Amino acid sequence: MNLIFLGPPGAGKGTHAQRLMNELGIPQISTGDALRQAVKNGTELGKAAKAYMEAGDLVPDELVIGIVEERLKADDCRKGYILDGFPRTVKQAEALSGFADIDVALNLSLADEVIIKRLSGRRVCLKCGGTYHVSTLNGREDCANCGEKLVQRKDDSPETIQNRLNVYAVQTAPLIDYYQQKGLLKTVECQPEATVEENYQRVREALGIA
Ligand code: ADP
Ligand code: ZN
Repeated sequence: MNLIFLGPPGAGKGTHAQRLMNELGIPQISTGDALRQAVKNGTELGKAAKAYMEAGDLVPDELVIGIVEERLKADDCRKGYILDGFPRTVKQAEALSGFADIDVALNLSLADEVIIKRLSGRRVCLKCGGTYHVSTLNGREDCANCGEKLVQRKDDSPETIQNRLNVYAVQTAPLIDYYQQKGLLKTVECQPEATVEENYQRVREALGIA
């Protein structure tokens, strides 16, 4: 199954994509994680992407399209993959259609006020991509999955969160119509009061996983 996860920042794309990766044995491909790694390693890509990311703006299409095109050529993508955070513009979606056959675009939706709460308390692991919220960490500072020290992303500051929501509304939300018109869209309304497990079950149902 070749999947795209659409949705605003903080809707749970990364969290559910990781669970699905473990359950289906197909890779989660996160352009955000790839870019953060590049910034951390100080590569040319990282240097080019850093300022955009810190401001909460999108990195130019040319920089991300190449990452994904290369990644999808790897052997582990043959049984399927989950694109998490790509495409994010209509131009990226059009480029993707030239080198990938998408089965489902899953749209995770969530109200803005919930997003702001989630992102401002978010802590991440830069090593394995794990995501946590301070409210459930009980003071723990390392990743339960790999032991790396957790950090707060620079773009999870209040001003930047607002910009990311605007960027999402203007540049990414049009993809909902784009994939609707192609007949590939499925939507899951995330329930902020529900547990991650409960929301994940809704994702599975939408994808028709028994
Ligand atoms: P979130 O979904 O939490 O906003 P991501 O980890 O997916 O975060 O992305 C973080 C940042 O990386 C984005 O704000 C943007 O600057 C950059 N980025 C990630 N994916 C893309 C993409 N497909 N196109 C352009 N920029 C991207
Ligand atoms: Zn980790």
